[in-house]
Amino acid sequence: MSIVEEIDNYKKERDAVIFAHYYTQPEIQDIADYVGDSFALARLATELECKTIVFCGVRFMGESVKLLSPEKTVLLPEPKADCPMAHMVPTGLIEDCRARYGDDLAVVCYVNSTVEAKALSDVCVTSSNALSIVGELPQRHVLFVPDKHLGSYVGSRLPKKNIITGHGCCPVHDSIDVEEVRELKAAHPNAIVLAHPECNEEVRKVADVIGSTSRLISAAAHAPAREYIVATAVGVEHRMALDADDAWRSFLYPKTLPVCSDMAMVTLEKVRDCLRDMNGEIEIDLALAERARKPLECMLELTKEPGW
Ligand code: SF4
Repeated sequence: MSIVEEIDNYKKERDAVIFAHYYTQPEIQDIADYVGDSFALARLATELECKTIVFCGVRFMGESVKLLSPEKTVLLPEPKADCPMAHMVPTGLIEDCRARYGDDLAVVCYVNSTVEAKALSDVCVTSSNALSIVGELPQRHVLFVPDKHLGSYVGSRLPKKNIITGHGCCPVHDSIDVEEVRELKAAHPNAIVLAHPECNEEVRKVADVIGSTSRLISAAAHAPAREYIVATAVGVEHRMALDADDAWRSFLYPKTLPVCSDMAMVTLEKVRDCLRDMNGEIEIDLALAERARKPLECMLELTKEPGW
């Protein structure tokens, strides 16, 4: 029996659905029931009736699913797969800003954060809804944690807001080098540059399209160019190639490949083993979960785009 057949059998036994993030390896995306960004998958989980969700991604993604669907068993095939940025929320800065700005401050927490950080925040956002949600907030002062790059991008688009950030960032996107992007653009002058807002400002300045992974995938499927320079983590090109309805599109990465090593830790063997042994279950203290769920639910209420 192949490993894919084994996974299929265990899935039926456990009444399980497999989610995979776009940054996981292609073979993981291929066996998943749903592939998406963390927001789409967390929202989708609330609509599914299965007992178990296997989240092929990093810890904060599984935690968001568990917070919004507490009745489900959520398994991480690789419990050590964690997002370093999730731990870069400066709690002292949250206290200082609350003391300084009072009710005219909103603490906005990117979903790439720990449960503890969410519990200290007013509303969560993702890269796909950060602009619209922050734009709707009545407060003028916004402490945006943990990603300074996404925070500065939001600030550049919403000049009436006073956006305050800490120093956190995604090491994978932060390391994308604008000179390498420029070199590629010089060699492929007609290529469209697609950048995630977690990239640093220099990279964003040379981008033609800035957006969440879903937005970049959509741009790569519908823009008229043959070539796309991809400034986000490796893995997304798999979906871009599947979604493009013509085979001639090509996807180019900077020569220092932006690989998320935590996402790469998820393998088919680990998916099979966690389903077989029911290992890697996400468990969150009930009182903490209660507080952390509120900003996530607030995000769902404020998000206008249609769901999955
Ligand atoms: S790509 Fe960056 S933000 Fe995403 S999980 Fe990896 S380290 Fe975290």
